Amino acid sequence: MKKAVGIDIGGTNTRISFITEKGHVLKQAIFKTPNSKSPEKTIYEIFLKVKNLKILSPSIPVGLAVPALVDPQSGIVKLAPNLNWRNFNLKETLLKKFKLKKIVFENDANCAAWAIYKKQKDKIKNLCVVTLGTGVGGGYIHNGKLLQKQGTSIFEIGHIKIDPDGPKCGCGGRGCLETFCGARHMNRWAKKFWKKTSFKNKNLTPLEIEIQARRGKIWARKVWQEYGKYLGLGLSNVINLLAPQKIALTGGISAAYPLFKKDLIESIFENALPQYTQNLKIEKIKWNRFTGSIGAGLLALH
Ligand SMILES: [Zn+2]
Repeated sequence: MKKAVGIDIGGTNTRISFITEKGHVLKQAIFKTPNSKSPEKTIYEIFLKVKNLKILSPSIPVGLAVPALVDPQSGIVKLAPNLNWRNFNLKETLLKKFKLKKIVFENDANCAAWAIYKKQKDKIKNLCVVTLGTGVGGGYIHNGKLLQKQGTSIFEIGHIKIDPDGPKCGCGGRGCLETFCGARHMNRWAKKFWKKTSFKNKNLTPLEIEIQARRGKIWARKVWQEYGKYLGLGLSNVINLLAPQKIALTGGISAAYPLFKKDLIESIFENALPQYTQNLKIEKIKWNRFTGSIGAGLLALH
């Protein structure tokens, strides 16, 4: 059976999955992403750690997931803000130092989407995967193929616009979906709902808001209703463009799905073309932090 190594380089941690072509995990590891000044040194240190796991060999393909816009062919990372990489040629650096048969590159959210697509029980061919975490990311599978483009990774769903007068986003734009549904930005608008509570001057995490909502606090429930509404608006744009058969929600915040499900669905039905929503499935996929590395490995085997 064919095997591959998937490496997911995160801003904080790097996760490794050694997998079979069916996506079964043979070995996994996690370590802090080295904090070197030069990207060459960082990547070199990562590969030395992977080498120590005794899973690398010249016959094993390797997939790399990076939190950035990356060219899947050339392996050039245009900009990875969390890693401080700019126009860095990953492929060249790796092939020079390590004997590798095949190495592929993708954005981390696209890798996670591919893993979720491959693991589906219902084998749906048109799938939109949305990762709700610190930011909002995603990947799209169209007719059984990951949406990819030569020159850069695509499907930056977190940066579709849902409010022209909305807050500034890290991308330089305004009113992006991420500024409403990313954990990093939630506080800004959600605060208005806990004005009359003891949390008035505190910044709450999505998990804290979730706990309060589950305890029945009205203000917290309102936060999640609003969350569902914004997310539904963003997803409607994707539905109207690509008509997915299924939307899979994952990431840390998706744990609160039961709290925003009703408003999300209402918002989708209100904003998306009815022809496209008739048979649309919406599913929550349990978040596993190794999903990106598994997807990277599966892409290397593809
Ligand atoms: Zn943005």
